[in-house]
Amino acid sequence: MNEQGKTKEELVSELQKLLQENNSLKGLKEKRAAEFIKAKENDRLKSAFLANISHEIRTPMNGILGFSGLLKTPGLSGETQQEYIRIIEKAGARMLNIIDDIVSISRIESGLMEVNIQESNINEQIEYIYTFFKPEVEGKGMQFSFKNTLPEKEAFLNTDREKVYAILTNLVKNAIKYTGKGSIEIGVSLRQAQGTVGEPVVTEQGRSTEVEFYVKDTGIGISEDRQDAIFERFIQADIEDKMARQGAGLGLSISKAYVEILGGKIWVESKEGKGSTFYFTLPHQTETIKENGDKNKFLLPVEDASINNLKILIAEDDETSEMLISIAVKKFGKEIISIRTGTEAVEVCRKNPDIDLVLMDIDMPEMNGYEATRQIRQFNKDLVIIAQIAFGLSGDREKAIAAGCDDYIAKPIKIDELLEKIEKLFS
Ligand code: ADP
Repeated sequence: MNEQGKTKEELVSELQKLLQENNSLKGLKEKRAAEFIKAKENDRLKSAFLANISHEIRTPMNGILGFSGLLKTPGLSGETQQEYIRIIEKAGARMLNIIDDIVSISRIESGLMEVNIQESNINEQIEYIYTFFKPEVEGKGMQFSFKNTLPEKEAFLNTDREKVYAILTNLVKNAIKYTGKGSIEIGVSLRQAQGTVGEPVVTEQGRSTEVEFYVKDTGIGISEDRQDAIFERFIQADIEDKMARQGAGLGLSISKAYVEILGGKIWVESKEGKGSTFYFTLPHQTETIKENGDKNKFLLPVEDASINNLKILIAEDDETSEMLISIAVKKFGKEIISIRTGTEAVEVCRKNPDIDLVLMDIDMPEMNGYEATRQIRQFNKDLVIIAQIAFGLSGDREKAIAAGCDDYIAKPIKIDELLEKIEKLFS
């Protein structure tokens, strides 16, 4: 016993306790230090990512502003003007891609990505992709082939068609971008679903199947140490990639998120200098098998307009967009009225019950297009309202329809698509 009246055993046990506490404090300190380093690393990657995005936006902007300036040069030949306009269009399209990617990634990050499951004909989709990209691949002097072993009756999946389309488009675009010569092949097949360790997946209904897609190229390939990183969102921007043509490095991370949302897997097999094959799978859900899939057919532009006596209201606060729509719909109209706010849209419709068509911008000052539509519907159920929405998110269409619109068109507006919608709604 010592002077504080504690036995030797008690002292040893206290000492052990103190040592334990000390150890756990040490552990906590190390954990905090690791978290701090990780947070700093994340910050650094996000900054690198933002710098990359900023560069990606500035590059097409440079093309747009530069060539718009050049267009003003007096005495330019018609041919040169057309050439400059083509460059501006291309740069605009590239910019739009980047903006779409940023919107998608932030919706994925915030968990707000909607999934729109409907019956989709996979064969038709992949065939469409093949037809769409064939001229571009062949234009680069390469071969493009398409292997399909999916029987027609197995081709109808319950999935999100737009997301499947986005994944395939992204993989094919990459294959084109990172391949200089040789060939690109796309394909789809039905296979036995594999579990995490490669064993067949068996459910109550028996062995389950999945649809496997692939996009194969004979391009630059990807070194083994980068094959996981290319699917990560912030990491990619940080990789020094001397071969990178252009791009914000978001495409594959978006594709991965989409594949996983839809219940599949995505991976790559690649050899540097030889080429890459990207694979992804989707669960083979075909409860509602259909023999023909008319509703999945892609629409073709309408050639001529037979309607020319409409009274049209353009509700649009942006002057350039308003000008574009006015010019586009002129052939349908006997009278075109343009206003800038949602409140005005409601007033003008109240005073002009003979208006046939409203092209309703959604993002307007004072009152947005959804609210304006709801108010107009209280006194006029007959006029046709087409919403024009700049957010580019899936679910827009549903919101517009719920507010009382007859149809919806995404901005930037594709003139052919708008004219086709008007033709359809008035025929
Ligand atoms: P981006 O192409 O815009 O950089 P992605 O996320 O689509 O972004 O691709 C990430 C990276 O993966 C690319 O920068 C490229 O290094 C690599 N990569 C993707 N597809 C291929 C391919 N088919 N062949 C070689 N490398 C590829």
